[in-house]
Amino acid sequence: MELFNTLGGKTETLEPVGAPELRMYCCGPTVYDYGHIGNFRTFLHVDVLRRFLLEQGMKVRHVMNVTDVDDKIIRNATMAGLPIAEYTAKFERAFFEDSDALGIQRPEYVAHATSCIPEMVAMVENLAARDIAYQTDDGSWYFRIARFPEYGKLSRKDFEGIEDGARVDVDEYEKDAARDFALWKACKPGEQHWDTALGCGRPGWHIECSAMAMKYLGESFDLHAGGEDLMFPHHENEIAQSESASGHAFARHWMHVRFLLVEGRKMSKSEGNFYTLRDLLLKGYRASAIRFLLISVPYRHQMNFTFESLKESTNAIDRLRTFHQRMLKGGFPEGLDEAVAQAAAKAEKDYTAALANDLNTAEARAAIFDLVRTANSAADAHALRAGNVSEILRVLALFDGVFAVLEDRDAEITRAALAWAEAEGRLGEADSSMVATLSLSDEAIDALVAERTQAKKTRNFARADAIRNELLAKGILLEDSKDGVRWKRK
Ligand code: AMP
Ligand code: ZN
Repeated sequence: MELFNTLGGKTETLEPVGAPELRMYCCGPTVYDYGHIGNFRTFLHVDVLRRFLLEQGMKVRHVMNVTDVDDKIIRNATMAGLPIAEYTAKFERAFFEDSDALGIQRPEYVAHATSCIPEMVAMVENLAARDIAYQTDDGSWYFRIARFPEYGKLSRKDFEGIEDGARVDVDEYEKDAARDFALWKACKPGEQHWDTALGCGRPGWHIECSAMAMKYLGESFDLHAGGEDLMFPHHENEIAQSESASGHAFARHWMHVRFLLVEGRKMSKSEGNFYTLRDLLLKGYRASAIRFLLISVPYRHQMNFTFESLKESTNAIDRLRTFHQRMLKGGFPEGLDEAVAQAAAKAEKDYTAALANDLNTAEARAAIFDLVRTANSAADAHALRAGNVSEILRVLALFDGVFAVLEDRDAEITRAALAWAEAEGRLGEADSSMVATLSLSDEAIDALVAERTQAKKTRNFARADAIRNELLAKGILLEDSKDGVRWKRK
């Protein structure tokens, strides 16, 4: 497949070099809070890439870090009066629950910063032995960027005239200044820390990713991914320290996911347009619709999240699932319709070509909806034949191998979110009609529907109507059809 490479700014073929599997690293979450939909846009597109590569028959070794120590974590853990590990465990668990809810596959390796301290220390010692790392009076260690002439090659910033020795020690940076950056931060009084050969302290943020990537993927590997905000300085710093330490090229290919805007603006708590996945689930939106929406805009395009588009996404999933059920149910006459067969073949070809072309998810999705439209019309006109169904189902399965929205786990996921909200005392934020809809389990609804059918048979229409109204009040719609009664949640 072809993928845009930030390093060099060109679209290039993505393939494994020197190993049977594609080795890829994605910067993972900093576990100090719940993940927001911007974070998940990035992780979802990496999931799309991963799933497509696997679908194409490639083997993948995918590593993601969990940043479980940094300035914000130390600050928040201290404020909460908790040891760092206890504070981060809760948010890490939440991150993986959210990832599962969104259908994000687990990487082959999840590496914790706090479990790779010896590798980070070894790397700083390596750099220090050649005076590329130096220690300051307070005991911290810095990377001397004047010793890495290629600094800026990823973000293509020109750092002519860098001030030698100008330093930065916080994890949040000025965006345009090149500074010697902290590799190891000496501990401040009362701070949680590690005692190592570098002195007592904790790792800087950038060294974590270099050490973890190299530990699991080797000094050189195929792909490094993350959100666009990480390009500078985080990824630039990863390259500088890794290539200085190993003497080899670090990642060959760099993928950056463009930032998500919400209602046209940068997402921020103070603007009131900041949403975690859990916020949206409590408002009654479905996990599948959130996944579908966040991946439908190609990763290099600016995406603007709106509630209008989330509703459209919900409708699109309904259309897709209804079509899938229609195909599964079958009952079409024998034979093969040539036009539908061609539409299925075209959809498969267009879908694959779109994703192979820099992961164009919008075109891949459009290819499948073209097929849905053609096949639905053919079925309505009694042209669709039994012989078309297996091909259509195969193309749908291919699509769903990457988009992963056909299986309906939505009610189960929302119930889990409600249980969490209850435990956190946040149930008041939940949409009340959704809570009512979910108060009945699928089995309870099936039983009521069966009772209603029975009541109608015995001409007890009063009871039948009472059941219909009870279900309607809870947002459950009944549809009488010639093959029996179907129900769905509003
Ligand atoms: P963090 O947990 O802050 O380290 O971020 C985890 C990932 O989410 C990183 O790859 C970030 O670049 C990415 N990210 C953060 N905000 C957004 C956003 N608004 N849109 C897309 N990706 C984002
Ligand atoms: Zn990173």
